[in-house]
Amino acid sequence: MTNLLIVGNAFTEEERARLSGAHAAALVASPSDIAGMDMTLRTEVRAVAFKGHAPFGAEAMQALPNLGLIANFGVGYDAIDVTAATARSVAVTNTPDVLNDDVADLAVGMMLAQARDMVRGHLVVASGKWPEGNLPLNRKMSGGKVGIVGLGRIGREIANRLAAFKMDIHYTSRSEKETPGWTYHADLKAMAQAVDWLVVALVGGPETEGHVSREVLEALGPQGVLVNISRGTTVDEAAMLDLLESGKLGGAALDVFLNEPDVDPRFRRLNTVHLQPHQGSGTVETRRAMAELQLANIDAFLAGKDLVTPVN
Ligand code: NAP
Repeated sequence: MTNLLIVGNAFTEEERARLSGAHAAALVASPSDIAGMDMTLRTEVRAVAFKGHAPFGAEAMQALPNLGLIANFGVGYDAIDVTAATARSVAVTNTPDVLNDDVADLAVGMMLAQARDMVRGHLVVASGKWPEGNLPLNRKMSGGKVGIVGLGRIGREIANRLAAFKMDIHYTSRSEKETPGWTYHADLKAMAQAVDWLVVALVGGPETEGHVSREVLEALGPQGVLVNISRGTTVDEAAMLDLLESGKLGGAALDVFLNEPDVDPRFRRLNTVHLQPHQGSGTVETRRAMAELQLANIDAFLAGKDLVTPVN
């Protein structure tokens, strides 16, 4: 009996082998391929291991009549229609916490790279052009004011790291949190006005779409830098590009974009941005921990036990 369906072409060879070594599994590249599978196979499937950003909606769930679990690889599950899953009594799980350190590390690394112009510095040395002259002076990060948009698991890890850089920590969340004296703002625009850096660590999905609006970016201003490690959808990307091009926003450090991997070509013409290819959790250690947590959820479900990290 093939009771596991592996959905997504983003799985590595090792991840696929681990899943299919543990459970009899079939494989499709995308949720949109499920309806085209053989009916007998579709009926056997009880659990899905999902990785990727292709939408996983009601139609794909409907094509698997005995589906009971969608186990997502990643903490962000905005690609999965959780409302549709819940309506069908399909459980959804994700992989929280195990990736917090890596995503926070990358956020801080991107901030330093943006402020200190580190990529250009590397290129000057590596290309042998250093004798032609020094780089222009860049900007200091330590001691600055930072606003974290969404003080969740990852947002808090970023704030903890930035506190060690002697930064003045501000944050927005839907409710005030217990913190070591960080400044809470109920209003995002007011926070953007008060800080030099805005770091977005929100969940993705329709509820947070465009949360960092043109107005917020204008409030951050020509000396301000936007950092996004959440999802491309949380920021008004067109407004961000307009403001970066006109100098009304000082800079950006981005790991996520609206159209990945075909990012807007306007980004390539800017020299105030530091860009990364959505690799916040992309270390050997963390991807292994995420794969183990995904499999632990699948194991628990197929054994009739409590799920480890349920979403719904
Ligand atoms: P989390 O602990 O659930 O925190 C999410 C934050 O989003 C919380 O501060 C929460 O605010 C806020 N939020 C949720 N719904 C909201 C709404 N409707 N309106 C306003 N704020 C809302 O999640 P996490 O584990 O820190 O992960 C955050 C996100 O990071 C993930 O969802 C994922 O998209 C992204 N991520 C990116 C990478 C990468 O490679 N770049 C890797 C991992 C994760 P409250 O505090 O008010 O609840």
